[in-house]
Amino acid sequence: MLRAMRSDESHWLADGARERDALDAVTAPSRAVDIAVVGGGVVGVACAYWLARFGADVALIESRRIATGASGRNGGFMLGSGPQMAKLTELIELEQVDAELEQPGHLALASSEGVIAQFAEEIEERPPTAPGVELLDHSDCEDLLGLQLAERFRGGRWQPSGATIQPARLVLGLAKAAARRGARLVERCPVHAVEPRRAGGVALTTAAGRVNARHAIVACAAHSAELLRGANGLFTPSRGQVLATEPLPRRFGPGMAVDFGQVYWRQAADGTIVIGGCREADRATEESLEEAVNPVVQRALEAFLPDAFPGFGPVPVARRWAGVMDVSPDGRPIIGRWPGAPGVWVAAGFAGHGLPPASGVGRVLAEAIVLGRDSEWLRRLAPDRDQEAVAA
Ligand SMILES: Cc1cc2nc3c(=O)[nH]c(=O)nc-3n(C[C@H](O)[C@H](O)[C@H](O)COP(=O)(O)OP(=O)(O)OC[C@H]3O[C@@H](n4cnc5c(N)ncnc54)[C@H](O)[C@@H]3O)c2cc1C
Repeated sequence: MLRAMRSDESHWLADGARERDALDAVTAPSRAVDIAVVGGGVVGVACAYWLARFGADVALIESRRIATGASGRNGGFMLGSGPQMAKLTELIELEQVDAELEQPGHLALASSEGVIAQFAEEIEERPPTAPGVELLDHSDCEDLLGLQLAERFRGGRWQPSGATIQPARLVLGLAKAAARRGARLVERCPVHAVEPRRAGGVALTTAAGRVNARHAIVACAAHSAELLRGANGLFTPSRGQVLATEPLPRRFGPGMAVDFGQVYWRQAADGTIVIGGCREADRATEESLEEAVNPVVQRALEAFLPDAFPGFGPVPVARRWAGVMDVSPDGRPIIGRWPGAPGVWVAAGFAGHGLPPASGVGRVLAEAIVLGRDSEWLRRLAPDRDQEAVAA
């Protein structure tokens, strides 16, 4: 019998607890607001931030505490495009968000010759605007890391521009900036329904009563389907397991992965190694909305580093947690007006890559709602797009 394992607060949320407690949040929204954003993850917070920056009257309504969903439980890798990263850096500087954004590079180790061939093909087909990457062989990887690497790794893909961030601090810092610009932050207030009103606008049924708004954005990741009529089954939950070690002597500079993110890890400034992935150890169980730790996957995570790096030594575990990704049918986010529900918008389906695009998504939605300016993004990622055509 497998022993149950405790689910801890994530390393990032524990580290950002002071910022979270300093947020100026209430537990009940006012009865009427121009725009309501439901969901206090990186996507909802970015929407609230840009709406407030464009001068809108906005309330962000979160069922738990801000950043406690996937946004505070992830790996904190930022592998976005050059323009995405430049804009985010500018925003972080403008709003003085202390989110430990760094650019240590990113190395994905290849576990087979087949993956090396896929990396090579990807490099060949990369558009000139994409961040530069290069193929390394086994000994290049060992040299780069200064560590002995198990023979089974055939080489790797090195992205010098790969960045990392403290994801909870990013969300909390943006929430603080949104509040400074006039957004109201509401926590511990689940929203039960978001419905268009006959008279125009939207009615939200919340744990603290009814709220009328002109527009509402649903940004609740995999839970978004519960608030959008006809969205049942649109977002498949995909749980990811993560653990954090006690602080260890410095071993990894770059952000790290195996293949296409089957395992990923990084060492934070205090020496803590945060490692996640290994879903294949118990894939069927991991299609879950429950943020519960899975002992089978957690054991696989614990065994990974000593197996991949001969002589690595023991991995003392400080925290274990899980987070849920939301996967759309074609694997791309779903952003824009919800069909048949005037005033209702959605921004969800970011799966395992929501950090780099979040601010851009917030801006695009704020421009559409406040300025009436639709972007190409909204057309390509619209909820009623032909998912099969987009995937092809
Ligand atoms: C283990 C793991 C590792 C990942 N690693 C990375 C990575 O390294 N890099 C990267 O870019 N991305 C990564 N991701 C993906 C990234 O975390 C997500 O794409 C991103 O956080 C999605 O943000 P969100 O705001 O849509 O969702 P969330 O952060 O989940 O926010 C949704 C919020 O909605 C709230 N909510 C739900 N229902 C209601 C309701 N009815 N009423 C009010 N509030 C509600 C929830 O409480 C939650 O706070 C990872 C995800 C996981 C789970």
